[in-house]
Amino acid sequence: MRLSSNIDNIEISGIRKFYNKVAKIEGAISLTLGEPDFKIPEEIKEAMKKSLDEDRTTYTPNAGIEELREEISKYLKSLNISFSSKEICVTVGGSEGLLSTFTGILNPGDKVLIPSIAYPAYENCVKILGGEVINYSIKEDLSIDMEQLERVIEKECPKVIVVSYPSNPTGQLLTKDQCDRLFNILKDKDVLIVSDEIYSSIVFGEFNSISQYGKLKDKLILIGGFSKMFSMTGIRIGYVCAAECILNSIIKVHQYNVSCAPSIGQYGALEGLKKSMYHIEHIKSDLKIRRDYVYDRLVSMGLEAIRPEGAFYIFPCIKSFGFSSEDFCDKLLEDTKVAVVPGTAFGKGGEGYVRISYCYSMEDLKLSLDLMEQWLNQIKLN
Ligand code: PMP
Repeated sequence: MRLSSNIDNIEISGIRKFYNKVAKIEGAISLTLGEPDFKIPEEIKEAMKKSLDEDRTTYTPNAGIEELREEISKYLKSLNISFSSKEICVTVGGSEGLLSTFTGILNPGDKVLIPSIAYPAYENCVKILGGEVINYSIKEDLSIDMEQLERVIEKECPKVIVVSYPSNPTGQLLTKDQCDRLFNILKDKDVLIVSDEIYSSIVFGEFNSISQYGKLKDKLILIGGFSKMFSMTGIRIGYVCAAECILNSIIKVHQYNVSCAPSIGQYGALEGLKKSMYHIEHIKSDLKIRRDYVYDRLVSMGLEAIRPEGAFYIFPCIKSFGFSSEDFCDKLLEDTKVAVVPGTAFGKGGEGYVRISYCYSMEDLKLSLDLMEQWLNQIKLN
């Protein structure tokens, strides 16, 4: 049987791979997944039940129900991002949004610039479609190496650049200066920008986004969603925003792929935007406490870390312990049953780092960090 050669080139996500290893170990504490331990707000649950009771269970328009697209447009306006409801397509999570976007814009062989440490879906979507991945560098302080980015754009003439803030896996944001710099680099270039802003609601510092620059409107595609915002990862509602001429191409793919996002989830997200914005404040203040706890503990164990300003990940450096990322995670799991993800699951640039997801309970965080600290102390002695 002959299968797709593009698919031969891709592997299952390193995050899932590690998670699957952990699942086989009884009593393991996993800090591996980006799945908040908060419950879906009650209003959203009720709205979903009501839509089921009222038989609003048929196909919706391909791009999603109009009311939801209008509410998304209003929500984005509150972040200084301007897309009308006609420029929004509701998708089956940000994941489908990403693959439909890349399918809608790429031809085989097209070059796509992806950060050297990034959420693995970007690289693999591009590979599925026969595109060519080119990395731009993330520096040791976890910010973009802007000089290298400028050089690589000049040299490679990519068709697309992927930008992703707040970042998974680093938890970093763009400062206003960095955002302006990025805008100045990209404004006159013939490069499409895919900005994955799935974590835009979970920001502890100042939110700056490349999508806020109206001048980039004709070449920018924003990916967003509700999995993290309303803790509804299993409901599968996300969205893609772009100027109509770009979005039309993406909607064609989306239509043949899924027809529309699940109707019940769309009604849930709609109610969430109208009534559950308090939930975001609640999870942010809760996550901030966990972030500070985890950061302080890691630093006191002698790990170098940069305090994250968004999402719920921290990306400490483990280079001083002399293990590769993968060995560090394997040994930590073997010796203590604590699971964190090797930085290399996010690209070669992640060597020497691990990703810790801190959207787990304080008990789990405390216990796993205690175990990790004892383990590191042992290693320091040997
Ligand atoms: N982008 C990033 C950066 C993510 O971390 C995730 C999920 N972990 C997604 C997109 C996709 O999320 P979903 O499909 O649940 O909306």
